[in-house]
Amino acid sequence: MAQVTERTPAERVSGTGRIDHWIGGRTVPASSGRHGPVYDPATGQVAREVGFASAEEVDAAVRAARDAFPAWRATSLSRRTEILFRMRNIIESHREELARVVSSEHGKVESDAFGEVSRGLENVEFACGIPNLLKGGFSEQVSTGIDVYQIRQPLGVVAGITPFNFPAMVPLWMLSNAIACGNTVVLKPSEKDPSASMLMARLFQQAGLPDGVLNVVNGDKVAVDRILEHPDISAVSFVGSTPIARYIYEQATARGKRCQALAGAKNHMVVLPDADIDMAADAAVSAGYGSAGERCMAIATVVAVGDVADPLIEAIRARLPGVKVGPGSDPESQMGPLVTREHRDRVAGYVEGAVRQGATVVADGREHELYRSDGFFLGVSLIDHVTPAMDCYRDEIFGPVLTVVRVRTYEDAVRLINDNPWGNGTAIFTRDGGAARQFQFDVTVGMVGINVPIPVPVGYYSFGGWKSSLFGDLHMYGPEGVQFYTRAKVVTSRWPDPGTSKVDLGFPRTR
Ligand code: NAD
Repeated sequence: MAQVTERTPAERVSGTGRIDHWIGGRTVPASSGRHGPVYDPATGQVAREVGFASAEEVDAAVRAARDAFPAWRATSLSRRTEILFRMRNIIESHREELARVVSSEHGKVESDAFGEVSRGLENVEFACGIPNLLKGGFSEQVSTGIDVYQIRQPLGVVAGITPFNFPAMVPLWMLSNAIACGNTVVLKPSEKDPSASMLMARLFQQAGLPDGVLNVVNGDKVAVDRILEHPDISAVSFVGSTPIARYIYEQATARGKRCQALAGAKNHMVVLPDADIDMAADAAVSAGYGSAGERCMAIATVVAVGDVADPLIEAIRARLPGVKVGPGSDPESQMGPLVTREHRDRVAGYVEGAVRQGATVVADGREHELYRSDGFFLGVSLIDHVTPAMDCYRDEIFGPVLTVVRVRTYEDAVRLINDNPWGNGTAIFTRDGGAARQFQFDVTVGMVGINVPIPVPVGYYSFGGWKSSLFGDLHMYGPEGVQFYTRAKVVTSRWPDPGTSKVDLGFPRTR
């Protein structure tokens, strides 16, 4: 009897176990000869290979998008909405499958991946309202017999370049509005976990999205650089680390492209002395270690104000043995492995460095038994008595390491946050409404939580940080996403009235 081998969720997407490109509505074999490994982070094994696109392969994707653009932009809003509704429904009906694909390549636990898909779905739901979102303005009789109106039109071919940490949600942040507004897209997902994007491209085709409207090219810097220089790409949306975001923004805008580049973070959670200690400790543990700290909105630093510090740290410490670390596919696991061995080792290095620099390591993730397995596991670390000069405070660690900075006053806490170069998210825990309101007024951060540790805005607001957490003017998804993916045209119109027509060489004035 023939032996049946169980295929992983991601293998079912890639078919052969090799991940190619999706161009013009079909899988196009990667042909550059360059490729990279995609790991199963729980076992440390290479699960499959992903092809890295050459400049010519990127050009083929851009051509497909350019060819699809005229028909897609001319597709009526009601027809586009119908397709978006079907895209929403097909994602919803494949939520579990997508979550399993995400988990198998990223490492995060399946329940967390399911949450990611649900948050991404919000962006498709928002885009279903595109007929309303694209309503322009109309001014009647601005001058005698003359009306003025503004319409918003798509940009053309736009590109999205996404990070490893939300392989389904971040592509949906971009695709939903870009497509709804009438653009066609070339998406370059992270080479570490590209299968979710490939699966979504196929699902959207089944939902009726015309071929060429969404193309996925896999790859690394070569593909990104070609996207940045390609003359037919009008806009680039990027999400990733700060150094690459800065590079993308500078390169794209230097070539006249519109660009929004969302970047790294160091999110502070301030706990005031009047806060509910248990609630704050639950929030710090959930937001610090969820998804192994690989979230741009993860809490990296707890700022303990005054005498709240000792009881708060004790409450956090007491919760740590309860955090179950294990493979993402195990329903018992609360925290999975990190994305690669290299990243795991880099994160562990910060714990080592904190010891050397004089901080107090309350819990050391390297002591977890899975740290010695082949998977890319690291347990949870808690580091107290951290100062702003230490590396574990200054750098974005992006792992399950929670640092604690003790400050004397509320003013010290705000100064610490406002002096930090990043400004993605922050939170304050207090029972004092006045203090919370003052914090929201004072803090130089784009997204603020009041007793909410991960204040990712719902799909009908927009997402974006301040300072080194965002390069560009507009935030992502929601209303600002619609603005980003369209440009305004203002029409001044008069219908012929031979009775009032005459030659007039003066500059047009209102009459
Ligand atoms: P990354 O910057 O390494 O990679 C992001 C994308 O850039 C990937 O598609 C990658 O292939 C590409 N890239 C990598 N190196 C490149 C280079 N030298 N030239 C051109 N392109 C290159 O980021 P990551 O490790 O995948 O993701 C984690 C980072 O993303 C963290 O810093 C996190 O804070 C950030 N992030 C930010 C947000 C946000 O909304 N601000 C959201 C998610 C993640």
